[in-house]
Amino acid sequence: MNKDMDKLNFLTAGVPLRAGNKGYGAGFEILNDMGLDGLELEFVRGVRISDKSREAVSKSGKVITAHAPFYVNLNAREPEKVEASAQRIIETAITANELGGYSITFHAAYYLDMDKELVFKQVEAQTRLITEALAKDNNKIWIRPETTGKGTQWGDLEEIIRLSKEFETVLPCVDFSHLHARYNGISNTYDEFCAIFEKIGNELGQRALENFHAHIAGIEYGAKGEKKHLNLEESDFNYKDLLKAFKAFSVKGAVVCESPNIEDDAKLLKDYYLSL
Ligand SMILES: [Zn+2]
Repeated sequence: MNKDMDKLNFLTAGVPLRAGNKGYGAGFEILNDMGLDGLELEFVRGVRISDKSREAVSKSGKVITAHAPFYVNLNAREPEKVEASAQRIIETAITANELGGYSITFHAAYYLDMDKELVFKQVEAQTRLITEALAKDNNKIWIRPETTGKGTQWGDLEEIIRLSKEFETVLPCVDFSHLHARYNGISNTYDEFCAIFEKIGNELGQRALENFHAHIAGIEYGAKGEKKHLNLEESDFNYKDLLKAFKAFSVKGAVVCESPNIEDDAKLLKDYYLSL
């Protein structure tokens, strides 16, 4: 869309741990030292970034994505909560766009035991308001509902593909670890990963594979889905076959590593991908 990606980029979810409390400038130096490609701005507790950090991000030359606040539910019962949720997504998109960002992602909604078709219509209506507000601003950053990790959260792959068909600037953020956890351990083989890319390519076109946004982490899960993130080597998540599938489909875009050790697993992913 606004910036086509020429390769698959590997990003950390937030500032690398080794930067300690030294902020974004130190974080980008670590990314450079480790050969990583960028980072996801974690606005999960609010869209806030200092002027100093803004400058560091803008000047970094890195691939930048952003994660909207967790406190979002486009299907909340109270209209004021719905409005505030949409506003948080818009603010994330505006800030990320100002900083040269590529894409933003968010957990769109909870079902709240409502009929799934009604929830879809509600998310769709709110997404229309969000994309219209951003279009007025000529903001064409990718807006990405994320595949979620629990059965109570709106956002399985089908729902997100269906929503993406409706809007020019909307595409999926595929959190492969969430999909694995959501279905209590499935979606973890080469064939299953290939089927996901095939489905997205068939339904949303080649542009969706050339402009991908993914999340990967080790993950602990149970019958109700996601429990917590783990480092890749401590989990059963089959990242090697996933990266083989990325390669087989020539997927380009941003892979964000959300493991607790952030930069180490990002590097593990990138190194393995480049070895293929
Ligand atoms: Zn997320």
